[in-house]
Amino acid sequence: MDTQDAATRPRDPDTGGAPAGGSTLRPARLPRLPGPALAALYLVFCGTTLVLALATLGEAAPLAAWEKVASGLGLVALAAMTVQLVTSGRFDAASGRLGIDRIMAFHKVIAWWILVALLAHPLLYVLPTWLADPALGRERLVAYLTAPHYRSGVVALAALALLVVGGALRERLPWRYESWRGSHLVLALLAVGGGLHHAITVGRFSAAGPVNLFWGAVALGAVAVIAVLYGWRWAALHRRPWRLASVTRKADRMWELDIQPAAGNPPFTYRAGQFVWMTEGARRFPLLDHPFSIADSPLRPGLSLIVKEAGDFTSRVGALAPGTPIGIDGPYGVFTLDAHPCDAVVLIAGGAGIGPIMGLLRDLAARRDPRPIRVAYAAGRPENFACLDEIRAAASILDLEIVLVSETDAEAWDGAVGRLDRERLAGLLRGLDLARTVAFLCGPGPMVTGVSDTLLDIGMPSRNVVYERFDYGSGGRSRRDRRRALVITAVGAGLVALAGLFALLA
Ligand SMILES: Cc1cc2nc3c(=O)[nH]c(=O)nc-3n(C[C@H](O)[C@H](O)[C@H](O)COP(=O)(O)OP(=O)(O)OC[C@H]3O[C@@H](n4cnc5c(N)ncnc54)[C@H](O)[C@@H]3O)c2cc1C
Repeated sequence: MDTQDAATRPRDPDTGGAPAGGSTLRPARLPRLPGPALAALYLVFCGTTLVLALATLGEAAPLAAWEKVASGLGLVALAAMTVQLVTSGRFDAASGRLGIDRIMAFHKVIAWWILVALLAHPLLYVLPTWLADPALGRERLVAYLTAPHYRSGVVALAALALLVVGGALRERLPWRYESWRGSHLVLALLAVGGGLHHAITVGRFSAAGPVNLFWGAVALGAVAVIAVLYGWRWAALHRRPWRLASVTRKADRMWELDIQPAAGNPPFTYRAGQFVWMTEGARRFPLLDHPFSIADSPLRPGLSLIVKEAGDFTSRVGALAPGTPIGIDGPYGVFTLDAHPCDAVVLIAGGAGIGPIMGLLRDLAARRDPRPIRVAYAAGRPENFACLDEIRAAASILDLEIVLVSETDAEAWDGAVGRLDRERLAGLLRGLDLARTVAFLCGPGPMVTGVSDTLLDIGMPSRNVVYERFDYGSGGRSRRDRRRALVITAVGAGLVALAGLFALLA
């Protein structure tokens, strides 16, 4: 194993340009749309089917009030279900505008609204009959669920139920993450494909006319999304393999991978703090990749990833041989300095969260950033800390204060012992204008929740606390997460309200 330290890799901090064959700065992205504008766009897209259905009302057979609600819910929820394909975290056009945590929280919460709306869809058709004559209502429901021409709809509904419940129970399922992910894709294809087939073949409004054309266009879009994700990106992983240059042990069960592009690769553009999806060896396939933050500055060549052993894939990285082909897909994410302009930067890492924090710190150091920078780094034991020499050395270049906190003590440990509590965080922020300071926070879920809430208690504006979780949108429970869940719930309620409005107007 090569033990070259990443810090000894060629740097080019003074030129501000990319070293040959290395990474480059990403050109400024399009302005990010504010959350309410995105929510409005989402509702407009989902509501388009209803507007088109209203336009074809004259041609459809007259409907009872409940049936109108049932139709409205079916149309709007099917549109929302197709959007789930692009809110899966793999499309920068969506996740790059919201951040991976927000987009995944949206994906998960809205999935429940879609499931409830689509479960209500057949039930509402039989509700009036059920209320008048329960036995006949049951009979009608069974007829709906077993009739051959409704089969694609029933398959779609069952797949959706398995998708949503399986997603919620993922951590408790006795499956490998990759198996869950594969099944999630298959179920998603069944749900979207079956739903579209159902609408186009037996939908009251969708079987012909503009709604039918709309679903045709949506189906083409869904095929394009899958083709990009699993065709074009798969080909890209094989066309442009990177190479593992070295593996360095940085702490107990923590490794730094230095990955370099193959000769002739086009420049890879990213911003410090973003992450990539990585695969290794001959089996480079998008379903087998893992997300890792880039622990590097774009001013240095190649990419560095700091990986903590957490399971079967990460436990192997320390033994990877230099020269191993690496697939890189990315970059993704908005855990970046340019997305959050400020006068002072606070970087807070817990455990493996040091990856993106080192990316930001290395970038600030490479650019000789003049702003006040505070770093807080917490870990369970002294031997869990990575890159300590490099963090301390950065103080000779930057206006930097460092707080190191280990939960347990050891003889040679010269940092603090305990937790990153309110007192330590308040000390870290002392002297900074909180309205002009941005805190970047990355670490285990409970630590992110606790530190985020404490920073708000101390007086940091919510928009200035930026975090990324490694458990891919587990839907944390910080105050900000709860507020976010409420906003998403309002969007879900908006979908139902659209169906209600449709019933009133139809
Ligand atoms: C945006 C983001 C950035 C990350 N950056 C880093 C980093 O810089 N350094 C680091 O050590 N870890 C990072 N992680 C976590 C890392 O992706 C997981 O630890 C790793 O994928 C675990 O894989 P495994 O097979 O070793 O473990 P497993 O036992 O298979 O999984 C452990 C847990 O990791 C998560 N996980 C596993 N595979 C995936 C996957 N393909 N996609 C999403 N989540 C998965 C799941 O929550 C799973 O329960 C990051 C995660 C995310 C979402």
